[in-house]
Amino acid sequence: MQRAERAAREESLLELRLDALKQPTSAIQPLREFLRSSPQTLVIATCRKSTYGGGFKGSTEAEWAVLKHAAAAGCALIDLELQSAERLPASALAGLRQQTNLIVSYHDYKTAPPLGPLLERLEAIPADLYKLVPTANTWRQNIEMLRCLDAYTGATPLIGFCMGESGLLSRILSMRAGGAMTYAALDPEEATAAGQPTLADLRHLYRVEALNKATRIYGVLGYPLAHSLSPLMHNAAYRRLGMNAVYLPLPTKRPAEVLDFADDIPLSGLSVTHPYKSAILDRLERIDPLGKLVGAINTVVRSQGKFYGYNTDIAGVVEPLSLALPLRGAKILVLGAGGAARAAVFGLRGNGAQVFIHNRTREHAQKLAAEARAKVVSRAELKKLSFQAIVHATPVGQYPKTGESLLEADEIHAPVVFDLVYNPLETELLRRARERGARVIHGFEMLALQGARQFELWTGKPAPLDDMRRELFTALSAPA
Ligand code: NAP
Repeated sequence: MQRAERAAREESLLELRLDALKQPTSAIQPLREFLRSSPQTLVIATCRKSTYGGGFKGSTEAEWAVLKHAAAAGCALIDLELQSAERLPASALAGLRQQTNLIVSYHDYKTAPPLGPLLERLEAIPADLYKLVPTANTWRQNIEMLRCLDAYTGATPLIGFCMGESGLLSRILSMRAGGAMTYAALDPEEATAAGQPTLADLRHLYRVEALNKATRIYGVLGYPLAHSLSPLMHNAAYRRLGMNAVYLPLPTKRPAEVLDFADDIPLSGLSVTHPYKSAILDRLERIDPLGKLVGAINTVVRSQGKFYGYNTDIAGVVEPLSLALPLRGAKILVLGAGGAARAAVFGLRGNGAQVFIHNRTREHAQKLAAEARAKVVSRAELKKLSFQAIVHATPVGQYPKTGESLLEADEIHAPVVFDLVYNPLETELLRRARERGARVIHGFEMLALQGARQFELWTGKPAPLDDMRRELFTALSAPA
């Protein structure tokens, strides 16, 4: 009840999962008192049986008894799963509806069966709301849910979205597609279903209540994406400029599916991140010269059904660095030979710098150096050589191994050090470089810059770069 009281300060419609209690009936008296003291709060009482994915171990009759008590205590809505509703006499359900509102709900915690027949079964039972919640394991199942909501013309409002990691898209877009409501957890650790977002994220990050058919939809394609800061940064930019747009995480192991169904959402543009920066090149109508040079893109613009690829990672490295030193003729060391290093090496070479590459696997460094006309340096040479700048492009020092640094303090021979690792905000390498008097550039500068250039490609408007930087800085400054 304490958690309910806290929730009621932020939201007027709460679901109480009575099936999470050992003794659901023990909640009835406190619930009655809570509703008396908080008359503006509407409560949905749910006591889902364990056979249908809930926590209640009793019979259908025992479940029904709990729910009738909850209705008598003043709950505005009673959630009864379809299978129980089908077993109870129609007169009992009609009697309950004299007193309160009935949601008949169907949940599948494993997969998404065909939605049409389920909807027919729901509609066979008179109710005040229907709820259809399968689990999406594929992108297609998400899209099918949105299509189902869009096509639904019944008089009884329908709640519909998908659970699971792949279901976030339908949770966020369901109300835009015509769904009556969507569910959120008060805190991440209080989620009652897989993939359930928090109330703060739904309301303030994704602004679900403001989304409509005219909302432009963007997202980031990658896997995994749990720690991506791109939704924070891009949604902050749309908020700042008052744009009707939203940016979503699109975690998937099958990126082709997202592209196949782009028209259904419809997607206006994508950020592309690990591991798909090169994997989707063959789906693009055209690739910009920088993307072609590097062999990877991080941005897709969708126009008239076609996908156009761009690389803004290069700008993300080159622009912050060029504010610290003139790049033409500068001797710059790049650490690493992976995707981020490629963007750095080609970008710096393109701006006239002399580039030196050091990498754990020397052959990878040699291959990149040959392609970009750069030089390879060994570990022993690092101690002796000095540079005008160092760009670190390996994951060493990244959260959670934040104490690590690829370079020892006596290997940092440059007045400028740019670490592309952005979490933590200040890496061990940057701490050491700062101690040696170097000017440091943080990885979030690249993240902000490449994001700002994406924003501009998608919208044709100047990006609110300062807001995007501030959002990242604030998120990365928060204690882990
Ligand atoms: P990647 O393609 O997997 O490449 C990783 C590189 O790091 C390879 O050269 C690899 O060497 C080297 N490496 C990996 N583990 C190492 C270790 N323990 N010791 C020494 N070298 C090691 O990764 P990426 O996409 O280039 O990303 C690299 C880093 O840049 C990541 O931390 C990523 O978060 C960051 N990044 C930041 C931004 C931004 O916006 N700030 C953008 C992109 C990437 P081998 O060749 O020997 O395997």
